Amino acid sequence: MAEFVPINYQTVLASVIEQAKNTKSLGEVASYIPELAYVEPSKLGIHLITVNNDHFHEGDANEKFSIQSISKVLSLTLSFKALGNDLWQRVGIEPSGTAFNSLVQLEYEQGIPRNPFINAGAIVICDVLVSQFDNPKKEILNLCCKLSGNADIAINAAVAQSELDSSFRNRSLANLMKDFGNIDNDIDTVLDVYIYLCAIEMTCKEMAQTFMFLAQNGVNPLTKEAVVTVSEAKRLNAILQLCGFYDEAGEFSFKVGLPGKSGVGGGIIAIHPQKYSVAVWSPKLNDKGNSYLGMKMLESLTTISQSSIF
Ligand code: GLN
Repeated sequence: MAEFVPINYQTVLASVIEQAKNTKSLGEVASYIPELAYVEPSKLGIHLITVNNDHFHEGDANEKFSIQSISKVLSLTLSFKALGNDLWQRVGIEPSGTAFNSLVQLEYEQGIPRNPFINAGAIVICDVLVSQFDNPKKEILNLCCKLSGNADIAINAAVAQSELDSSFRNRSLANLMKDFGNIDNDIDTVLDVYIYLCAIEMTCKEMAQTFMFLAQNGVNPLTKEAVVTVSEAKRLNAILQLCGFYDEAGEFSFKVGLPGKSGVGGGIIAIHPQKYSVAVWSPKLNDKGNSYLGMKMLESLTTISQSSIF
């Protein structure tokens, strides 16, 4: 009978980063938000935290980067807590199969976005937050500070301004949904919240810690508080699994096999429920807007450690 050998994550991460360094990164740093184009393309980091609170990291794991769409997991968490299952009247839970900023489904689906992680869905979620909270930006930032264990989490104001100045597509999504009656508040107010959340910065370490609650049945291991219920944690992970990578969600499941969420800053968070949370960062994106080497690193991680959820 095969003997149980505990995984040595430090050795695994060393191999993962070594492999990534030896792989030519295809793709480009995001430039449609001009400020993001200034990031050094060769940055490469990984940080993994187990449910026993063991930390492992390699590379640039302690440098801040723009979390972009990874913030959509936190805004979804807050809005789901606030509205419960009524939230699903406003936004679906199905994979979109389209690009993150696509407009095409909105017209024939009457302004109801397919899921909360495509931009249209995340904008609706921000509309919910504006209706529910006096200061939704502060609410999310406080949540980030609490979950990451770092009171200094902040946004990059230059990134926010740059996105605001170039937010033509997100504005068109918001306008179309407003026309269908699925945006209750003023469009500028909703987009201001959306853009602010995308401009939050974290290190891989802070990001891995922030999302530990999804590896621990909804409980923040730093405070032992339940952020969400066990059932809500299960549902959030299911949405990450099916929708976290837009029209590459199948590919990510196929190659990595973990619930996860990417951002155009080059970060990816992935969760192994009951085992670990892991954050990776490499700024060059593939043509689906997901980190090219970030995906490769997570593929190596689950392959070498044999720890996908499947
Ligand atoms: N702020 C970005 C946008 O709206 C977020 C996209 C992403 O990270 N996939 O385009």
